[in-house]
Amino acid sequence: MRIFIKKLKFIPLVASLVITSACTSTPIASPKVVPKPAPKITKPSEIKGSIAQLATRILHHPKIKLMRGHVSGRVDTATAYHNISSASRGYSARLSSYGNAPGGYAKLDKRMLQTMLYMADVKGWSYHVTEIAGGSHSRNSRHYRGVAFDVDRINGVKVGYGKAYYREFMNICRQRGATEVLGPGSKGHDRHIHIAWK
Ligand SMILES: [Zn+2]
Repeated sequence: MRIFIKKLKFIPLVASLVITSACTSTPIASPKVVPKPAPKITKPSEIKGSIAQLATRILHHPKIKLMRGHVSGRVDTATAYHNISSASRGYSARLSSYGNAPGGYAKLDKRMLQTMLYMADVKGWSYHVTEIAGGSHSRNSRHYRGVAFDVDRINGVKVGYGKAYYREFMNICRQRGATEVLGPGSKGHDRHIHIAWK
């Protein structure tokens, strides 16, 4: 620093004023701290957090929309939104009590929550979740065990035969461990895809 100031004496006045003022306004350079890049996520299981933490991220995620009603029009507190909200507070998710739905509660599956975040955060997809543990599905549906979710809109496009995105969404989930993946072409799945784990 001293050497630097001495050198300034030989610089024309105006220039030295500029330089000195620049120097005084800038703290002495300390070694720059380079933040370590976050480890690259390559699969859903690498997304860390408890069920409540994962659910909280889903609840507030700008790319994941959770339906606050049922496709059936029935009103209860077992909607996708209610399910994730309950899980974010550490509770089990409520099941519906109409049609085939048995009522009661289910703990949401961690792999499912990780995959939901994986699709949005790592793959960058936005989507609309219509049901998780609630709603009426086939008897013994995996929904009632908290290991399935339904999606009816992806990147702004409604799920339907020949439409964009849904096949790739299904493929990625299958590759990442979902074992029951259904969509247009399967009975009862013309307008939504169903992603479930064992
Ligand atoms: Zn389903």
